[in-house]
Amino acid sequence: MRIALLSRNPKLYSTKRLIEAAKARGHEIRIFDVLRCYMNITSHRPGIHYKGEEITGFDAVIPRIGASVTFYGTAVLRQFEMMGVYPLNESVAISRSRDKLRALQLLSRKGIGLPVTGFANKPDDIQDLIKMVGGAPLVIKLLEGTQGIGVVLAETEKAAASVIESFLGLHASALVQEYVKESGGADIRCFVIGDRVVAAMKRQGKEGEFRSNIHRGGTASLIRITPEERSTAVRAANTMGLNVCGVDMLRSNHGPVVMEVNSSPGLEGIETVTNKDIAGMMIEFLERHAKSGRTKTKGKG
Ligand code: ADP
Repeated sequence: MRIALLSRNPKLYSTKRLIEAAKARGHEIRIFDVLRCYMNITSHRPGIHYKGEEITGFDAVIPRIGASVTFYGTAVLRQFEMMGVYPLNESVAISRSRDKLRALQLLSRKGIGLPVTGFANKPDDIQDLIKMVGGAPLVIKLLEGTQGIGVVLAETEKAAASVIESFLGLHASALVQEYVKESGGADIRCFVIGDRVVAAMKRQGKEGEFRSNIHRGGTASLIRITPEERSTAVRAANTMGLNVCGVDMLRSNHGPVVMEVNSSPGLEGIETVTNKDIAGMMIEFLERHAKSGRTKTKGKG
């Protein structure tokens, strides 16, 4: 196979591992900086150019699109799809999961466990919104945040109201969410490929920190997940229409609750903790599914 890898940083662990795994399995793989791809949006013959040359002859494309370049990155990926190149994850599925609110709405429609979540636009409605999600303590999340930035724990309703008010004042959209205290500053990352959880790890926030993000000083360790957690992760992935993703969930008193589905999950933590060749499994998925012209959009909107 000829595989295109959309990545902005060839030095990243995940990028290096995907290149290594593709070559080890006898494929040709080439990396493209998505922001340097430009598009010819012409009827019947969609094309992509890269630094003066036309990109042709690829069987599959692996999108590793960072949150800050979602708009342009998914447009380039869509162009690959229109050219009949099979995407490991589809552009529409990536867009769906990147919008935290849209993702939670879709997951709730399928009855997947979620922390009770509210969303409002006007400061007048804040008190009722807080009541709706069960009162303080609660978690407030900027819609645009990643790596735990913009995720705030408000201990009192007064604190919650003033944080929400200031976010609204800055025209920043924020979710208000039940605080799942019983998870004890830990969350579970399930790595899904196709219809299977192929690896899982637990991330524990550092002492006194409720956010378990590795970027915030959290540590990862091996964990055995329950059948319910396994099926929740697979259902969440299917709901998003993602073939490969990281499903982040909390262990709550009422079962697993999904916080986020990540369409470009990092490989370093999960491969190190589990000692598994996840990159190889991603390439193997392409071997099984990437036939030219097999691109199809699984869902609407
Ligand atoms: P980001 O996408 O920025 O990482 P998350 O929504 O994943 O934001 O939140 C970051 C971390 O904060 C999570 O990994 C989890 O440890 C903690 N967290 C988030 N939401 C809740 C919640 N409702 N209850 C308890 N802990 C939470």
